[in-house]
Amino acid sequence: MKLFDLTGRVALVTGGNGGIGLGMAKGLAEAGAAIVLAGRNKEKAKAALAELGGKGVFLSGDVTKSSDCKRLIAETVAQHGRLDILINNAGTSIRKMPELLEEQDWHTVLDTNLSSALYCCQAAYPEMQRAGGGKIINIGSMMSLFGAPYAAAYCASKGGIMQLSRSLATAWANDNIQVNCVLPGWIDTELTQKARAQVDGLHDSVEKRTPAKRWGTPADMTGIAVFLASAASDFVTGTAIPVDGGFSIAM
Ligand code: NDP
Repeated sequence: MKLFDLTGRVALVTGGNGGIGLGMAKGLAEAGAAIVLAGRNKEKAKAALAELGGKGVFLSGDVTKSSDCKRLIAETVAQHGRLDILINNAGTSIRKMPELLEEQDWHTVLDTNLSSALYCCQAAYPEMQRAGGGKIINIGSMMSLFGAPYAAAYCASKGGIMQLSRSLATAWANDNIQVNCVLPGWIDTELTQKARAQVDGLHDSVEKRTPAKRWGTPADMTGIAVFLASAASDFVTGTAIPVDGGFSIAM
């Protein structure tokens, strides 16, 4: 369908070498976009590129550094001539009660999940403006909406990225740049495998609490990525869309 066609578009996905980012990248590739994955782990990247069937390239970078974010955007444009779609997906979490959080923990989570998105958006803006528009998809969480005792920094970062998305959306709407936030429910990835190893009963409690009665998969994230990256969403901006099997609307 032409409305969802991404032929000729170029997408950069931070943390696209695994999990949700790779799930989204696969959807964009299938819709015709050229894919650039960014991350730190080259072994994971090799496997991710194989899953993309050779339809992507990998750029190494640490998104907590604004200089790396600028370089990732510049290299994408140098290689492909443009940047149309940016997915700020790289993320991390540190499970600790707030009274035990150290200064470095706070900065690691905030820098990875929130500041990185601002740095990448700032670098992408002139390129998208030059191209006549663009699509930015930021990855929030159920913790953009809910609090959790062991996740003060993570909740702050994910609440922040939702508000950052709304602010950028208002700033750049007139440049035809749409900025939206996706709020995944519990998705089976490396990040949550770690959480399940740390928290007894997490697997079952998520299944029970989610109206769809299952964990999500990275493949569940492809549809929303294609929608928000394509002309189908040209009048959709500043939203925060849950993709959560109903988690956020159930008691
Ligand atoms: P993964 O751990 O599988 O993916 C996270 C990715 O982020 C990795 O590929 C990692 O790449 C990259 N990354 C982390 N730190 C950096 C950094 N400093 N610089 C560059 N890349 C970095 O987890 P998910 O796929 O689950 O998470 C993806 C996003 O979705 C995150 O923002 C997460 O908070 C969010 N999310 C996940 C949910 C879930 O249930 N899984 C629920 C809600 C939100 P590398 O290893 O190469 O550094």
